[in-house]
Amino acid sequence: MGKVTGIAWTGSTMNFWVGCRKVSAGCTHCYAEKLVQDRMRRPFTEVRRTRPELWSQAYAWSRKEGALGTKRPVFTCSLSDFFIEDADPWRDDAWKVVHDTPNLIWQILTKRPERIRSHLPSDWGEEGYPNVWLGTTVENQEAADKRIGYLLDVEAKVRFLSVEPMLGKIDVTGFLSSCACCGISWVICGGESGPGARPMDPGWAIDLRDQVKGAGAAFFFKQWGGVHDKRAHEKAVLEGRTWTELPVVT
Ligand code: SF4
Repeated sequence: MGKVTGIAWTGSTMNFWVGCRKVSAGCTHCYAEKLVQDRMRRPFTEVRRTRPELWSQAYAWSRKEGALGTKRPVFTCSLSDFFIEDADPWRDDAWKVVHDTPNLIWQILTKRPERIRSHLPSDWGEEGYPNVWLGTTVENQEAADKRIGYLLDVEAKVRFLSVEPMLGKIDVTGFLSSCACCGISWVICGGESGPGARPMDPGWAIDLRDQVKGAGAAFFFKQWGGVHDKRAHEKAVLEGRTWTELPVVT
């Protein structure tokens, strides 16, 4: 729940709470649901705050990064959704941890971007916390049309998209930018993996890459999907090369 992770585009995960409810097609084969039900042996829809000892790890990580002069990216709520309604009573406590750990880059990815603006901390400011990147998942065009506007309605150091699992061809051209302040400056793309994985057409990924690079934004190709493979990221070759770009942060 709070640990070094195999997710290629981040450094660690931190789950302030665990449990969620499905909201769209991208949730159909939710890996968190399986993990919570099979390993933790409890209903996935029961959202629970995690232990204080786990939250304390964030401070230790930040101190360690500070001593090294480095920053650590942290994928926030990989087993839930940071903006889920059930966590409203706890979110201010989580925002305090985020605020007080300046050497961590909190990568907050949500499928509920319509709740971001009304659930920001009171001191978010004009540009957002300097150590928070906000993202939304857009698995298909319907999700892109519905969610991106909400994300762009909020100022943040970086705004990003996760197009994973990619379920169809997506046009996000009008929302992309090389500059973090002007639009979406980072796009992660990946196919679905695990039992029953829905296939991704290589042409969809190539087309998305071309949109992102055409706008001067950063593109990260995570995996093709299919059967689970710990080396999936190494094999994520798109037209002869890997794509592991990160956004430019000023
Ligand atoms: S929002 Fe994320 S964690 Fe929640 S059900 Fe959907 S895929 Fe799973």
